[in-house]
Amino acid sequence: MSRLITIMTIIFSLNVHSKIILIDPGHGGLEKGAIGKNVKINGVTTNVFEKDISFLMAQKVKEKLSKKHQVYLTRSFDRTLSLEGRAELAQKLGADIFVSIHANSSESSKSHGFETYYLDNNDNEAVKKVVRLENSEGTHKLESDYSENPMIHQILSELVVGQTVPLSKKLGNSIHQSIKKGIESKHDMKDRGLKPGLFFVLAMSKVPGVLLEMGFISNSGEAKKIHDDKFIDDYSSAVSDGIDAFLRK
Ligand SMILES: [Zn+2]
Repeated sequence: MSRLITIMTIIFSLNVHSKIILIDPGHGGLEKGAIGKNVKINGVTTNVFEKDISFLMAQKVKEKLSKKHQVYLTRSFDRTLSLEGRAELAQKLGADIFVSIHANSSESSKSHGFETYYLDNNDNEAVKKVVRLENSEGTHKLESDYSENPMIHQILSELVVGQTVPLSKKLGNSIHQSIKKGIESKHDMKDRGLKPGLFFVLAMSKVPGVLLEMGFISNSGEAKKIHDDKFIDDYSSAVSDGIDAFLRK
């Protein structure tokens, strides 16, 4: 009898607190994302792709969050998927939140650190540059700049009124603080901060969303670091805890 009560309690609590989370491994298939050249992994020097490390990390986050919530990935294998396709999935699933996972890239091989973007409009040129980079994937590669797109600005103004944008900031803050706590000193990584960004994939998904840049794949030392099993385990735990903390509030 007590066992039955335990099972009933678990089912009841899952129904009450369980949320639908969509985790988006950046890029995929023909879209390799950023490339890390000559990275030494397990004694072998090789080139690494953002699409692969983002997928590895997304799978780990899903594994950890699935204990408490319904978690889906936008892609469950290495395939090309447009930004529209990713955003549509959030709508179809009725997702409560959307989290897109990426690795950063810079012309300077010295750039390093982790950062978190939440959906918002902004005028910061440096932020715009990163936004452009992450917006130039899928079917609209090179021909569109979403940060200048009036339709996106219209959608965004509706999302501000509908609380999606303010909630994105709260979600971003919760995840970023958790990453800072679990990663900054333990893995000796720079905190580049929580920043606003106008991302097509986040605006179109119309749910509170953030985009994570784990670290710089263009920096061979940091690329090696973010491929380390311990880093993947710690970072995915931090993201999972940050999402869970947000959903509990
Ligand atoms: Zn990316």
